[in-house]
Amino acid sequence: MKNIVLKNVSKNYNGEPVLEDVSLTIPGGQFFALLGPSGSGKTTILRLIGGFETPSEGDIYLGDENITDIPTNERKVNTVFQQYALFPHMNVFENVAYGLSIRGVASEEIEKRVQKVLHAVGLEKFIYKSIGQLSGGQQQRVALARAIINEPEVLLLDEPLAALDLKLRERMLIELIELQSTLKTTFVYVTHDQFEALTVADTMAIMNEDGDIEQIGTPKEIYEFPVSSFVAKFVGTTNILEGTMQKGAHGSLVEIKDLGTFEVAVPASKTWIKDGGRVLLSLRPEKIEIRKSLIEGFSNKWLGIVEAIVYHGRSTQYNVRLKNGQIIQVFEQNEEHFEREVIDYDDQVYLYWQKENVVLLDR
Ligand code: ADP
Repeated sequence: MKNIVLKNVSKNYNGEPVLEDVSLTIPGGQFFALLGPSGSGKTTILRLIGGFETPSEGDIYLGDENITDIPTNERKVNTVFQQYALFPHMNVFENVAYGLSIRGVASEEIEKRVQKVLHAVGLEKFIYKSIGQLSGGQQQRVALARAIINEPEVLLLDEPLAALDLKLRERMLIELIELQSTLKTTFVYVTHDQFEALTVADTMAIMNEDGDIEQIGTPKEIYEFPVSSFVAKFVGTTNILEGTMQKGAHGSLVEIKDLGTFEVAVPASKTWIKDGGRVLLSLRPEKIEIRKSLIEGFSNKWLGIVEAIVYHGRSTQYNVRLKNGQIIQVFEQNEEHFEREVIDYDDQVYLYWQKENVVLLDR
């Protein structure tokens, strides 16, 4: 399977830089997601790979082949857009067959291949329905079928589910995962929705507002080990605190102003962490234990007052104000616990956390 490689790619629109010196390798045969806020340049990267735009600087490779100057229709790349732009006056068969018929493929061959891709997207029963008779999700599947019938090496998906409602989107995500693992085509999926990216991706890249790629990794690596506060805050929810590193007798310590000194784990790879240096601590709300009672022997804890309680169904969110004025979010699973204490507004609570769950980030 061929990797897609962007080498030092820059893109300006009317002199305004959108991408500056972006280098990125998209592993062949994988489901790859590009996640970032709106306007970060995700679609621009997709359009560059698809050949709808040319880079201002840099090169794009598919495997060993430099495809930078190869026209769109000669690239083995196909695209599914958010607006799926089907031909409304044609039925499902005609929409899916269109690309093959204009290329003069024999009608028996067309028939066979249309059947096959409609089966892949679960629409074989709808083959002679008109587009207007289909739901939004079915129409998006027709668009997918139309894109994969040419057996592209790469399928580019630009927010393909944005127009669908939540339930349908969740179902389509699972179907896309299945489709990708059957076809083994490289899928490049652009979204601003972290849930979608975490759900589908084998590998994902996080882009910031400036069009820089902050981190590439598996969903788990990105969520559990974000490399920057941007990634920690953009993917999931987190609490960020500021601290100063100190050398402790029993390992590493961090001092947080007005709260005290706490134990943290410093991975050897984070060579930038120095005694006396300022760091950010990222601690996910679900990694914190909230209790009214004091548990002996737990060194990492904060005392605070409950300022808000939000019931989310599966979990409850507590906003707790610490002595230093900072609000910490805590998510607690709503399991049936026999001896679970009832926590109320204005209650004084302890927040317990473990050093392994804190990620130290560069300020
Ligand atoms: P995203 O997909 O992350 O939302 P885009 O790649 O669509 O971001 O856009 C990145 C930036 O480039 C935005 O500021 C957008 O306004 C600008 N941009 C995108 N396409 C064009 C274009 N054809 N002409 C001028 N500016 C553009």
